[in-house]
Amino acid sequence: MTSESILAIGSIALDYLELPSGQKGETLGGSLTYFTLAAGSLAPVHPVGIVGSDFPEEGMKLFAEYSANHDGIQVAEGKTFRWGGKYQSDWNTRETLYTELGVFENFNPELSKINKTCSYVYLGNIQPSLQTRILQQIISPKLVVCDTMNLWIDNFKDDLMKVLSEIDILLINDSEVSLLMGVSDPFEAGRKILEVGPAAVVVKMGSHGSALIDKGNLVNVGVYPVKRVIDPTGAGDSFAGGFLGALSMGLSIAESMLWGTATASFCIEGFGTEAMRELTLTDIKERKNTVRNLSKLP
Ligand code: AMP
Repeated sequence: MTSESILAIGSIALDYLELPSGQKGETLGGSLTYFTLAAGSLAPVHPVGIVGSDFPEEGMKLFAEYSANHDGIQVAEGKTFRWGGKYQSDWNTRETLYTELGVFENFNPELSKINKTCSYVYLGNIQPSLQTRILQQIISPKLVVCDTMNLWIDNFKDDLMKVLSEIDILLINDSEVSLLMGVSDPFEAGRKILEVGPAAVVVKMGSHGSALIDKGNLVNVGVYPVKRVIDPTGAGDSFAGGFLGALSMGLSIAESMLWGTATASFCIEGFGTEAMRELTLTDIKERKNTVRNLSKLP
């Protein structure tokens, strides 16, 4: 199967994590990092992001290894974006300990000629006005997928609504879709988003799987039964990577959700990005088939 190129934008971070297992420490993170590791074995990925002069060489090597073109990773004088997160014992509730923007604060990328011609676009979880500026630079995108979070819904809702009017698929958590549309039922909230612009909404429900809402359908996809969760950080971004990778192979949205689910299941089996670094295409395909058997796809 051949895949088309994916332009991806998001954060590259140095994370500090505290987990219910008692494990804690610093590690490489960021939405773009997880996305690139997840999609990199499925499609030619063109990541666009920024790091500071303190960013470890090891991180740069990973981007070089998993990207088709990593010229879009800018190195600027200053500190890399830092984020600290602490999980409650239920694994689902996460508290942000701190967010330090560093060089991310003045990030305003000018896309290279090659990056402007990518067919698939992933607007990772970043400020909506920056998502718009990126999208405006792509010459003729075939399909645009966007993610977001409560921070942007709370503080930049108008900018976010503008982004939504220009994309094809929104990836969003169940609590966030309700917050965005002011409707407690996530499925009803998802259907309301269809009126704003996207042809489809994929609602991520953590350990309860994901749901596709589009004009005709409501499709539920389950999760892969992971034996031991080590660290849920990056599961959403890894889902997005597997999902976009499959879409770029020409697969349907529902089928691509199986790939996203399989990819995310590996992410949560290791601390930070550890488990993602050992991922192979064969592993993803195997788990994707298991998820299909556990889900009732039409
Ligand atoms: P996820 O678990 O999929 O929601 O993604 C977690 C990643 O998102 C972490 O590695 C963080 O570095 C990154 N992150 C957290 N908050 C933000 C933010 N406000 N902007 C961009 N990236 C963030």
